Amino acid sequence: MRKQIAAANWKMNLTYQQGEQLLDDILNAKIALKDHQLTIFAVPFPYLIMANSEITDEKNYFIAAQNCYSKKSGAYTGEVSVEMLKSIGIKYCVLGHSERREYFSESNQLLAEKINICLSLDIIPIFCCGEPLAIREAGTQNSFVETQLKESLFHLSSEQLTQIIIAYEPIWAIGTGKTASTEQAQEIHAYLRSVLAKQYGKATADSISILYGGSVKSNNAKELFGCPDVDGGLVGGASLIANDFIQIIKALK
Ligand code: PEP
Repeated sequence: MRKQIAAANWKMNLTYQQGEQLLDDILNAKIALKDHQLTIFAVPFPYLIMANSEITDEKNYFIAAQNCYSKKSGAYTGEVSVEMLKSIGIKYCVLGHSERREYFSESNQLLAEKINICLSLDIIPIFCCGEPLAIREAGTQNSFVETQLKESLFHLSSEQLTQIIIAYEPIWAIGTGKTASTEQAQEIHAYLRSVLAKQYGKATADSISILYGGSVKSNNAKELFGCPDVDGGLVGGASLIANDFIQIIKALK
């Protein structure tokens, strides 16, 4: 079975102490994850070491960075390299979140570079894609997300592609309380998988986890994760509340 994943995206929220408390509260729930289930916390850079030490003894719990830079090292003041992440034991990195695309002008081409540098150091990218409202209203969301995949991922070998997690996040549903319906989520996830299958073959496409993101809450997670092509979620707001995120982890297939 494909990996089913509950990924928390804390964004630029919580103090160090609040973050530590939140992790404690979630881990104290002692949710035993099955072999095919993962929980990943994408936390701010200054909390990575603390968060990683909190989860060291927990099976299938991991920590992710929310971003990294596209260059190996050098005179890039304020940036964080993949080598730095690797050196503190981080295994995952969120790339191409719509907030990075929008506020920091991250292009599909830049994201291809970030994907490459992550893979070169065995950091697993959680690659985000998804359309803005105007594209959804125009009904052209499929070709929009297809282009995002093609321009950032399709230079990879099949073996490299299988290292990646994809998160489909319609921008109109992020932080808005507006969730894609299960039909909308399943339809576009199946489409994304078919695009991967056309390029890489069905077996490869079937092995890749595609998460849904956009106002996943404790009361809709089960229904969304129940869709055959939805392999869990990337969760912002609801991942900041221990009881809510606990319910979301429990909703994994
Ligand atoms: C996100 O941050 O990726 C996200 C989906 O946020 P929210 O769950 O708050 O919509």
